[in-house]
Amino acid sequence: MALERTFSIIKPDATRRNLTGKIVAKLEEGGLRVVASRRIHMARRQAEAFYAVHKERPFFGELVDFMVSGPVVVQVLEGEDAIARNREIMGATDPKKAAPGTIRAEFAESIGENSVHGSDGPETAKEEIAYFFAGSDIVG
Ligand code: GDP
Repeated sequence: MALERTFSIIKPDATRRNLTGKIVAKLEEGGLRVVASRRIHMARRQAEAFYAVHKERPFFGELVDFMVSGPVVVQVLEGEDAIARNREIMGATDPKKAAPGTIRAEFAESIGENSVHGSDGPETAKEEIAYFFAGSDIVG
């Protein structure tokens, strides 16, 4: 096991329903520590660049529209195997398939409006953290 950092977003469907605290509680109860956090309203070009890997997917336009539809909370999470741990706590992309007790099973509205984002590997975690935070913003 290794101490790792991962990148997380609390998405607009969750901030709209005032679920930020409940989601952070699940992350903390799952063993992760919030070492950086900022509430922002993403610019369209920022959301397009962040999700550039999904550019060719049929839902890309819908995804970008959703991510700029309201505020989000961008966060850096730290903990043992934080990348995998965060994805476990989040649950499957589609809330209908997410395990009971996960954030998406409890809070997500649909496969698109699914309350949270989490990095899927060490390289993306590093890139995504650097996209939103300077090293000095992160206090472990
Ligand atoms: P994740 O790693 O679990 O977030 O899932 P993906 O990397 O596959 O997809 C990224 C994000 O795109 C998801 O979290 C959803 O917000 C969105 N998404 C994925 N599949 C669909 C879909 O079929 N329709 C829509 N509207 N959005 C989707």
